Amino acid sequence: MSALEITASLSYIVASCLFIVGLKMLSSPASARRGNLVSALGMLIAVVATLVAQGMDYHWILVGATLGALAGAFAALRVPMTSMPEFVALFNGFGGIASLLVGWAEYHRSLSLGAEIPFAAALPIYLAILIGGVTFTGSMIAYAKLAERIDGKPTLFSGQQIVNAAILLGVAVCLVAFLAAPAGPYAYWCVGFAIGLSFILGVLATIPIGGADMPVVISLLNSYSGLAACAAGFVINNTVLIVSGALVGASGIILTNIMCKAMNRSLPHVLFSGFGAAAAKTGAVYEGEVNPITPEDAYYMLEAAQSVVFVPGYGMAVAQAQHVVRELGELLEKNGADVKYAIHPVAGRMPGHMNVLLAEANVPYEQLVEMDDINPRLDTVDVAVVIGANDVVNPAAREQEDSPIYGMPIINVDHARTVFVLKRSMRAGFAGVDNPLFFKENTRMLFGDAKQSISALIAEFKTA
Ligand code: NDP
Repeated sequence: MSALEITASLSYIVASCLFIVGLKMLSSPASARRGNLVSALGMLIAVVATLVAQGMDYHWILVGATLGALAGAFAALRVPMTSMPEFVALFNGFGGIASLLVGWAEYHRSLSLGAEIPFAAALPIYLAILIGGVTFTGSMIAYAKLAERIDGKPTLFSGQQIVNAAILLGVAVCLVAFLAAPAGPYAYWCVGFAIGLSFILGVLATIPIGGADMPVVISLLNSYSGLAACAAGFVINNTVLIVSGALVGASGIILTNIMCKAMNRSLPHVLFSGFGAAAAKTGAVYEGEVNPITPEDAYYMLEAAQSVVFVPGYGMAVAQAQHVVRELGELLEKNGADVKYAIHPVAGRMPGHMNVLLAEANVPYEQLVEMDDINPRLDTVDVAVVIGANDVVNPAAREQEDSPIYGMPIINVDHARTVFVLKRSMRAGFAGVDNPLFFKENTRMLFGDAKQSISALIAEFKTA
């Protein structure tokens, strides 16, 4: 082994350690930003070590890196914060297609050398192509659903399971034929066929999932992109890519598990039940009196409150209300109230969405409380302020057995003495399910854009 190769191997170990430390730091809001930087440093070391050790021609790499960096920076600067979730889904898909291309390019290179392709090389090539293809089209569908370019509801058609089974059979047949003779006359067609099947499979595996189950599919696709990268690492025999891919794959699976628990659903149930397709049929229509409230009246109740819990949801992201929410929280604290922020694991449109927004607004971490910790305390809370949240506070999930979201744990805001719901209309949330919370006796609807409503409350406090 040359000195250069030893240095590269040592750099890979350092980079892998930095990935693991960075991941660990991501588990707490207090250290998450530094965790990101630590992981990025690990990636920089890995890239530099690879380029130096392989002694490659840098021309094309530099062109690719410059174009990629420009496209990424341009997109990241232009994308509004509200579109972050779909942007993340898009990038996840790019990771998948990159792994597919690595597998495909390496296969071509091996063919052009005219050498035998051993089993240990052929299997990762096939897996990188297959998982990369599924990740790519699956993420594109997730992107389209989150960006509301297609209907977010599950799409089911008769015979769907049979079609999926036939595709899986096709994938297995191609795999066997390819592995039998990777450099043989039919192998090329098998790989081409597998690419087509993986694209179709990605679409068909994602369209039946929708509504409140989307967080599960997003974390699962995240895991797939890691597995595809891991397979690509085996293809090009790059240790650090294998390690980083395995870390993303494993953490994606853990996140998927957390999301399933947050929804109180099993993974097979999410993948095969077509959640929410029945929403239109079974979703109850609630009748009763809705009690609107003005910012002035809401102020009087808040001013008298001893304890206030904010429950943010997707609408807070849309309104970009996190900064004014923090300001109102500070005013309430000055007024002597105990202030907490209750976080539901699937609130918003991406895992950790609310934590990111509240951290950006410098809300103290110790005021963030998870759903399981806040629920037992809500009976003693004077006012729960729901800021653009809907599905995650919908009591139908607790009370109404025929509701599509029945069984999903929610933040029990209706147990608080008074609930303010800040939203613009009576429209349903992402799952498309009506919300009986709006008709409860202790609920007051503060209609309007969340940022404007909170700003009006702040103005009341300041002029009082
Ligand atoms: P919801 O989508 O259930 O509700 C958001 C509410 O915000 C809407 O009812 C909307 O009502 C209101 N809103 C929108 N814009 C504004 C605004 N400017 N001011 C005030 N209110 C506004 O959000 P939740 O956070 O409660 O639930 C998240 C849902 O998304 C769950 O079903 C979850 O499963 C799903 N999901 C979550 C993902 C994740 O990873 N966290 C990923 C994909 C989906 P109105 O229009 O009347 O204002």
